[in-house]
Amino acid sequence: MAQVELRTITKKYGKVTALDQVSFVIPDGKLFVLLGASGAGKSTTIGVISGIVTHDSGGIFLDGRDISQAFPQNRDIATAFESYSLYPHFTVFQNLLFPLESPERKKQMLKPDREKRVKEVADMLGLGELLKRYPRELSGGQKQRVALGRTLVRRPKAYMLDEPIAHLDAKLRHHMRSELKKIQTELGITTLYATPDQLEALSMGDIVAVLNKGVVEQIGMPDEIYYNPVNLFVASFVGDPPMNLFSVDYQGDHVIVECDTPYSIPILPEDQKMLTEKMGDCRLKVGVRPVNIQLTASDDPKAHTQGEVILIDTLGQTSIVTVRLKSEEIKAKIPSDHLPKLHSTVGLQFDSQRFYYFDAATTRSIC
Ligand code: ATP
Repeated sequence: MAQVELRTITKKYGKVTALDQVSFVIPDGKLFVLLGASGAGKSTTIGVISGIVTHDSGGIFLDGRDISQAFPQNRDIATAFESYSLYPHFTVFQNLLFPLESPERKKQMLKPDREKRVKEVADMLGLGELLKRYPRELSGGQKQRVALGRTLVRRPKAYMLDEPIAHLDAKLRHHMRSELKKIQTELGITTLYATPDQLEALSMGDIVAVLNKGVVEQIGMPDEIYYNPVNLFVASFVGDPPMNLFSVDYQGDHVIVECDTPYSIPILPEDQKMLTEKMGDCRLKVGVRPVNIQLTASDDPKAHTQGEVILIDTLGQTSIVTVRLKSEEIKAKIPSDHLPKLHSTVGLQFDSQRFYYFDAATTRSIC
């Protein structure tokens, strides 16, 4: 167990800056999720920490000790990559046992203990029935679990898990998320978990860092990331479906949404005060999450505007309803037992208590 720290790490591949002054601390024993879209720099970060990618500048510290120049095998960090790279001529059991078979580890653990560990991890990952099979006899998701198991049989200072359950089906992924969280909490091993899946990030992470094109946009607890996004990028990246964002004209006690048919929404007195104090001359954007929009009758006087229902996506108890207002589309997330009819005209009522305000020029949150 250890604290892992990155200080201003920069990594370029030719002209591409994969990591730009990336700094963060993973406290001892915590599950730290690196959340970012494809190409954001997640694998590069993991490669740099585990020592298989050479960075250009900055430092990596394990419990305060600079390991930037240490060989990967001397860092005591176990890494699971999204690609499996299993030994084809080994069975699942042998693949899982392999990391415990180095002369050094053989000295630390007796054979029955090593085999017991393999069986425990195999059971944990639902691989108990597959131990005698060879990689060629496994599905993609099974191979990925073996690759993850090969990492989890070790008890290093830190785990680096790069999209370790990306290839599992939805049900198994859901199950593995909670299993992995449980295992990590029980073992208390400092873990960096990279994923493009915000639901995974928010449900599993003790701490979440949002990475965008090599830049850390925000680091915080899952609640902070969701409820207090620091900028437009985080606001629109975290949340499913994403936050609705509107350019508005601020007019004291209300905002006017700039669109083909502008409409006015009253805002809270405290928001009015805050905007008057902090906003200056900046152009304003307002964000509202789909769960904070109600659909009403089109002639409801409480509706702020109205539009046509063009899509209904039912996700069990809740549904995502897309409403078109001339050229704009707005998404609302509502209970499935209150659905409007497709192509009907509905009123939209925005909950201004849940508004997010952003400076359109700097993209920073105003709060
Ligand atoms: P994914 O989720 O798709 O795996 P990622 O967040 O892990 O993406 P990285 O693989 O770290 O992203 O890549 C970050 C950036 O660096 C991307 O623009 C990528 O194209 C670039 N990159 C990564 N590896 C190399 C390489 N070996 N040579 C050149 N460019 C690279």
